[in-house]
Amino acid sequence: MPAKRAVLTDFDGTITRTDVAEVILAEFAPPGWWEIEELHRARAIGTRETMARQFALLHANQDDLLRFIDSHVAMDETFLDFVRFCESGGILLEIVSEGLDFYVRHLLRKWDIRVPVRTNRAIFEGGIVRIEYPWADATCTLCGTCKLLRLFELRTEGYRTAYVGDGHSDLCPALEADIVFAKEELARLCDEEEIPYTHFERFADVQRGLAGFA
Ligand SMILES: [Mg+2]
Repeated sequence: MPAKRAVLTDFDGTITRTDVAEVILAEFAPPGWWEIEELHRARAIGTRETMARQFALLHANQDDLLRFIDSHVAMDETFLDFVRFCESGGILLEIVSEGLDFYVRHLLRKWDIRVPVRTNRAIFEGGIVRIEYPWADATCTLCGTCKLLRLFELRTEGYRTAYVGDGHSDLCPALEADIVFAKEELARLCDEEEIPYTHFERFADVQRGLAGFA
């Protein structure tokens, strides 16, 4: 029997061409959000604290944010083909995201993509955004959605898993995945941590790289 195969992928900057959270903050938050981002990039604070502090600076309603996203965020044009490739090849495809549910689900709906998602939950209350973490790991406070946890669950279920990502919150699953596709910040971190990976720019590259992944 062939091995069960899965692909876990990041959303922001991986499926989308730009990081949606950053696009929102750059437009709607005061400049202080970037100082928090720099603390995150220096690994001084985790993704969960970064997001909570950054989105606490934001005063906007959901409709305005979605309108802005619709005109400023594009999908990797090869991702739809990749979804079909996984479906026809019997490869389980899931999204694990440190973004926010309101825009992840909005964009997936708009692009007609039906893939399971784990992401953080945004609660809009009185003009501010509060974040809940339904997929956090109880033993670690660094991330909101624990991407590693899903990878371990899949391993327990007998899957060999490829991981695709571009940022800091992708490092933990990249350490444990059977095969890694990385770009940008994640590629730099993989170099630093000596994690083998295949560089990708588009999902078409991932698709080619998965040939022979069994
Ligand atoms: Mg990302």
